Amino acid sequence: MARYRGSVCRLCRRENMKLFLKGDRCYSDKCAFERRSYAPGQHGQSRRRKPSDYGIQLREKQKVKRMYELSEKQFRLTFSKADRQQGITGTNLLISLERRLDNTVYRIGFVNSRSQGRQLVKHNHFLVNGRKVNIPSYLIKIGDVIEVREKSRKIQAIVDSMDAVVRRGVPQWIEFEKENMKGLVKSFPVREDLTMPIQEQLIVELYSK
Ligand code: SF4
Repeated sequence: MARYRGSVCRLCRRENMKLFLKGDRCYSDKCAFERRSYAPGQHGQSRRRKPSDYGIQLREKQKVKRMYELSEKQFRLTFSKADRQQGITGTNLLISLERRLDNTVYRIGFVNSRSQGRQLVKHNHFLVNGRKVNIPSYLIKIGDVIEVREKSRKIQAIVDSMDAVVRRGVPQWIEFEKENMKGLVKSFPVREDLTMPIQEQLIVELYSK
């Protein structure tokens, strides 16, 4: 399926929650969801019918997929791998999403959105353990050191994002050295690290039909 190229703020309004897809704007009073917290379109403000179980499961999947800005194919593939792992499939899915390199550079604070993370990863601006890695879906491991390349340290998007790190905070599974533009993966993320309201079991139910 082709990548969505419309207004990402419409996605937040469609999912009825802030998905934080636009970096600093999401934290400002310019946030479209803060201004119009109803679904987009002509009938966005009209009362909706009670959704079916399928509809609820579908919305949950769409919400998480959009949060991590993945295509259906990429999301489904991540789910399939999570399903083959030991443990709880829904938790495995979320941890796999968190471990992606494009998400990790976002969590560290090198970029202010996952889409920006994906773009800068693809353009070779980061090193993992001293080597160039330009694959956004690369899964980080414990002990990995992720850093901004020397020649990329003055890129405005990275400089601006680093300034906002204090406000956003760095998760406990990452040790961040701001002055060296470096992040160490201390442990894998755990379910409790994800504070967004996600009911991953609904996604498992949807894909298990
Ligand atoms: Fe969503 Fe951010 Fe747009 Fe607000 S500014 S609607 S949080 S993408």
